[in-house]
Amino acid sequence: MHCDVLVIGAGPGGCAAALALRQAGWRVILVERLAGPADKLCGEFLSPEGVQSLGRLGLGEALGVFPRIGELLVSSLSGQCWQASLPNAGLGSSRRRLDALLLAHCAAAGVEVVQGEKVRRMEGNLAEGFRTTLKDAPLRARLVVGAWGRQGRAGKKGELMALKVHARGQWPGVELHSFPGGYAGLCQVGGNEMNLCLLTRVDAFRRAGGDCRRFSAEVMSQNSLLASRLEEMSPDWDQALAAANLTFGPSALALDGMLLVGDAGGGIAPLCGDGMAMALRAGELLAPLGDRFLRGALGGPALSAQYAQRWQGEFRLRLRLGGLLQRVLMHPGGTHAALTLLRRVPWLGQQLFSWTRGK
Ligand SMILES: Cc1cc2nc3c(=O)[nH]c(=O)nc-3n(C[C@H](O)[C@H](O)[C@H](O)COP(=O)(O)OP(=O)(O)OC[C@H]3O[C@@H](n4cnc5c(N)ncnc54)[C@H](O)[C@@H]3O)c2cc1C
Repeated sequence: MHCDVLVIGAGPGGCAAALALRQAGWRVILVERLAGPADKLCGEFLSPEGVQSLGRLGLGEALGVFPRIGELLVSSLSGQCWQASLPNAGLGSSRRRLDALLLAHCAAAGVEVVQGEKVRRMEGNLAEGFRTTLKDAPLRARLVVGAWGRQGRAGKKGELMALKVHARGQWPGVELHSFPGGYAGLCQVGGNEMNLCLLTRVDAFRRAGGDCRRFSAEVMSQNSLLASRLEEMSPDWDQALAAANLTFGPSALALDGMLLVGDAGGGIAPLCGDGMAMALRAGELLAPLGDRFLRGALGGPALSAQYAQRWQGEFRLRLRLGGLLQRVLMHPGGTHAALTLLRRVPWLGQQLFSWTRGK
């Protein structure tokens, strides 16, 4: 079998790259190791830039099913709160639904979607083309896009971990609540359902015996506003998804000639709620360059270099600022001081929204 583009991974990054290259007229195969729709560990706030990317990719009308999120509330351990209207609304997007929607849109656009298969080994390069096997048959591709998410980006072992669970609740905006050693995000995902997603240092979780219920009662509930939310939501922690060894920040944008989009190329601190948008945008950035490469108007080294340059230009500042804000939010005193400042200087909050969105 032969294709122009092989995309590995059907999250937002892979689907955006596959769609945009297919819309440019290329034969695209998109391979996803999961056999069907699945929940994913994510805060599920789709930022306004992500909504715009999806609009450009032709999914605008389909997004009406997701609740609109226009307000942000941040709270500190000391009870300090800061509330603001987002300059543009985002969406509360269950990943199970969003990823399924993206995949269906890819298939409708003519992308050849292969689910339940994992790409394991890749040979070749941009000059000669790539070779792998798919469903036990040889497959050749001229361009390979790596969109496999954060796997292979293992951070310092045991430093940061995350948990996500859906529970009942109906607070209208998106919320961030700081607690000792971490923070929790709440986002409405439709009906009477909220997503609760938290990031914490592993040592803080271990001190609570590695038990979600104890951690929730003894550590997270030290933030009184979060405690009241938790009581109302009463999450079923047995249903929680977990991930460990998390790391955020830039990574390599090419691996053995494959070009990387989304978390595979770099992940932003979750509090920015911009990882899906960045993944979608990276797919959009890569597609016109990939198109020129496939038409013979751009060589392999120039393709990699120009992609890296555009990626850095759009995302570098956002990633750095996200890392800095995450350190503040994971430090109780830092959060209190930052929220006090934001209450006194309202324009700073609006400025932070635009800086963490690269504008
Ligand atoms: C705690 C936490 C909270 C977050 N909250 C938010 C938020 O609120 N808003 C936001 O925008 N972002 C958030 N993010 C970030 C967001 O989840 C990611 O940035 C986004 O999912 C990246 O998309 P992606 O397409 O790169 O990867 P993914 O969505 O991870 O998709 C990768 C896909 O590749 C598949 N795959 C992997 N290996 C292979 C293989 N070898 N062969 C075939 N398929 C393969 C996987 O099954 C997967 O479906 C959060 C992240 C964390 C850790």
